[in-house]
Amino acid sequence: MSVPAAFDYHSAKSVDEAIALLQQYGDDAKVLAGGHSLIPSMKLRLAQPAHLVDLGKISGLSYIREESGAVAVGAMTTYTTIEHSDVLRRYFALLPEGVAMIGDQQVRNRGTIGGSIAHSDPAADLPGIVQALRADILVQGPNGVRTVKADDFFMGMFETALQPDEIVTEIRFAIPAARTGSAYMKLANKASHYAVTGCAAVVTLDGDGTCSSASVVITGASEKATRANAVEAALVGKKLDEATVAAATAHAADGLALLGDIHGSREYRAQMSAVMARRAILKAAERA
Ligand SMILES: Cc1cc2nc3c(=O)[nH]c(=O)nc-3n(C[C@H](O)[C@H](O)[C@H](O)COP(=O)(O)OP(=O)(O)OC[C@H]3O[C@@H](n4cnc5c(N)ncnc54)[C@H](O)[C@@H]3O)c2cc1C
Repeated sequence: MSVPAAFDYHSAKSVDEAIALLQQYGDDAKVLAGGHSLIPSMKLRLAQPAHLVDLGKISGLSYIREESGAVAVGAMTTYTTIEHSDVLRRYFALLPEGVAMIGDQQVRNRGTIGGSIAHSDPAADLPGIVQALRADILVQGPNGVRTVKADDFFMGMFETALQPDEIVTEIRFAIPAARTGSAYMKLANKASHYAVTGCAAVVTLDGDGTCSSASVVITGASEKATRANAVEAALVGKKLDEATVAAATAHAADGLALLGDIHGSREYRAQMSAVMARRAILKAAERA
């Protein structure tokens, strides 16, 4: 069995202490959350941090709170907690729905929303979901807290807007307008359940059922979760019947630098992007 290279373990008692440790050890340090991406990477020696800064003992980083027109989710909140949250189910169906599709129960019991987005795995589910919900990501560093829009957070494959001495502390979701529906669909890898291709969709309908706003993000198909601008433009101002949604989602892979690998060719991922987008948008419209 593979084992990680030797490292020093630090259990931070506060966010400030964790940031101080990151500053002290620089590139030799990594934050540990649920460990379900970092520990496998360390066992394979793809990551070899000399210092692990564990966030697990910091109180006050795991919560789901409705406040000031938004729902705030602490970075260390696990997928299982999100899956069973009544307030998240009420406003953002795709969030509990999406996390319920992640890995298996053990992964969902340990994996955290902050860890998933900080990792920015191209095949992960949450980067697409938080972008589709246009979330604000609160990031704390030595100079205090800054807010990064989800659309600006994911820079590339395993690459985010986080600085090495910053920690994701909270993800904030604005409570949606009336008649907003959302859904997440994915073609899952049969073994890991990572997304070969997935789509997160949020639509708002006006009084007569016309789409007044659409937010559609494709994950798994390219190096990072990416907004499908052409699909969104083709939905707004229309009634979301099957023919309209099928025509709009034919553009789902437009502009994506598609990935091809053992799980699916570029052509297959392009085709599946359209299929997952069509299903997610129709489900979101049905819920709106
Ligand atoms: C068998 C298996 C199946 C899986 N299937 C899926 C799947 O279907 N879909 C899916 O999306 N994922 C899947 N995953 C990945 C899982 O969701 C991970 O939990 C997630 O990617 C990382 O979250 P974590 O809390 O475990 O973070 P960790 O592994 O602890 O950390 C991941 C990275 O993020 C950094 N980090 C963590 N928290 C923070 C923070 N608050 N601020 C700044 N940096 C931080 C760490 O330093 C590290 O670089 C699977 C994992 C396994 C082992």
